Amino acid sequence: MAKVLIVEDDGTIRTGIVRALTGRGHVVAAAATAMDGLKLAVAEAPDVVLLDLGLPDLDGREVLRMLRAVSDVPIIVVTARRTEGEMVRALDAGADDYVVKPYGAEQIDARIRAVLRRGAKTEQPDPTIDVDGVRIDPRGRTATLDGVPLDLTPREFDLLRYLATRPGEVVSKRELLTEVWQVPYTAADKTVDVHLSWLRRKLGETAQEPRRLHTVRRVGVKFGLVP
Ligand code: CA
Repeated sequence: MAKVLIVEDDGTIRTGIVRALTGRGHVVAAAATAMDGLKLAVAEAPDVVLLDLGLPDLDGREVLRMLRAVSDVPIIVVTARRTEGEMVRALDAGADDYVVKPYGAEQIDARIRAVLRRGAKTEQPDPTIDVDGVRIDPRGRTATLDGVPLDLTPREFDLLRYLATRPGEVVSKRELLTEVWQVPYTAADKTVDVHLSWLRRKLGETAQEPRRLHTVRRVGVKFGLVP
């Protein structure tokens, strides 16, 4: 569901698209002129604007520029003009996408979802961690080593993720216990050592010949290939 603003002077088209999008669960505001559209774009703070380029009071590209000056809202330009140059100019002027009339409600709805997805992506960057051949997907809680899936327990995964987000940094056992296990540190606690040795084995290395998991004596552990 999105809050959609439609700026369209043709009453029949406007009513039709308002009805179609409302029926698909969107909240819709509509304006028949560029000036009303600009006012609503500020007052209603829509998630996406559907902008007809052929409006009676202002040139479409002028509206686009004015809208861009006051808002970062995704704009889908609607035009009856089929020339490629017109589209390119609209996109250059700040439109996110365009559709050519006549269009179906299905098509508009798909475009709306697409621009909103793109917007969500730029706000939330890809969280994948990629260090020295180890690739960690925190959302899917999976990890690979040189493209081969690692079979990790949940705790080993958390441990690897914690270390891989701090490559080249010496991390103390105290820090690992409090951050990964979230228990207070006692020097006698061998939990971290045990899990580190399991993780080390799954990474295909040994304490004697470490590759990515390096013990720093009496301090902790460091993750990453030594150059
Ligand atoms: Ca028009």
